[in-house]
Amino acid sequence: MPGVIFRNAYRTAGYGSRAGLNIYVEDGVVQRVGEGVRGGELSDWVVDCANRIVSPGLANCHTHLAMTLLRGLAENAHLEQWLSRLVWPIESNLTREQVRAGARLGLVELIRNGVTAFADMYFHEDQVIESTIQAGIRILASPAVLDSNAQAGLGVAESVLTGAPRSPLLRLGLGPQSTYSCSQGTLEEVKSLCDEHGWRVHTHLAETRWSQISCEKQTGLRESFYLERLGLVNSRLLAAHSVWITKQEAELLGRNGSSTVFCPVSNTKLAEGGVSPVPELREAGACTTFGTDGAASNNSLNLLETAKFGSLLMKHSRWAADILGPEEAWRMLTTDGYAALGFNPEKLEEGSECDIVTFDAKSPGVVAPGAADPVVLLIYSGGRAVDSFVNGSPVMLESRVVNLDEEAVVADYHRATQQLTEDKNP
Ligand SMILES: [Zn+2]
Repeated sequence: MPGVIFRNAYRTAGYGSRAGLNIYVEDGVVQRVGEGVRGGELSDWVVDCANRIVSPGLANCHTHLAMTLLRGLAENAHLEQWLSRLVWPIESNLTREQVRAGARLGLVELIRNGVTAFADMYFHEDQVIESTIQAGIRILASPAVLDSNAQAGLGVAESVLTGAPRSPLLRLGLGPQSTYSCSQGTLEEVKSLCDEHGWRVHTHLAETRWSQISCEKQTGLRESFYLERLGLVNSRLLAAHSVWITKQEAELLGRNGSSTVFCPVSNTKLAEGGVSPVPELREAGACTTFGTDGAASNNSLNLLETAKFGSLLMKHSRWAADILGPEEAWRMLTTDGYAALGFNPEKLEEGSECDIVTFDAKSPGVVAPGAADPVVLLIYSGGRAVDSFVNGSPVMLESRVVNLDEEAVVADYHRATQQLTEDKNP
């Protein structure tokens, strides 16, 4: 595979931010970094970074990619009504083709937002896996498991995972939706399948106060302790939201090396009334990350916007301006996000694996004085991804998505959503 030379980076983000560097990457591994570094062969990709910030790729650690199909259709409701009245009735009839169309649109959106790895939980996950590998980015794929939906039975999920192709871009997990939508028997089977195959567990944990109360009523335990009793709290657990957890639950998750996903935009849009205790989770040793959640509760997959909002919300709610700053947020988006999904933590330094994204640094709105830290710029001023390389291969070049035909993706999406609305109003 040809190498990639990133030339004359305007700035690099994270791990010793510097200007004017050349970075040479081969097979996804950073080979050389320095001012005079050249590419290896004439066939190498050359990326001119004079007006760009060069950064490790971003990890969106919780989404339901095909929910782009429901964008703007489920508004002004708390989680319980949002799920039972607005979302589940539509999802129960989704076809494989519709999920494929929604996921492919989501992939284009992720790539345009600088995302190179993500965790997905949904029905017909085989369609999401296939489309993601074609697009060329990384996925922790977790077929959704819910007792109430035949499309999300454990048998279906198991056959999706056992039939999945082998790919360095793919990690596998089961996605038991929550403690309130999966019976104890289902969760016990999830545990035994994941132990047998080494799969991860991607679930919604303590998203609302209601979910905690109903778990306590049914089991006598708060959600994290209930999952611990079932043997599910370990380093393979990816716990989305983790909003309504106590300090003891944070310590439990940290002690066991579990990962949590802060989804502040989705949490506030659904009026969940709490903020995930990220500082306590980090202090306890948990791997904390960011996620947009699906486009029906966000309503976009703009991960930098989510990180900015999360950083500000944490400062605001704690009356502490020095809490969850840009550097910490950046770590959650990159190194820790990759680790939580089961990929090698990326670093933009010699000898390390790293997916690389370049962001526009010269347009009005993002241009800043030379002294400004690129990480601060990306987290607080946002950024438009221009180029993206995953595992050493191009995914986007000069703002053009390489492996998906964007026009066809949008046309398929419109067809799929038209069918959805017709199905809903025959
Ligand atoms: Zn979710």
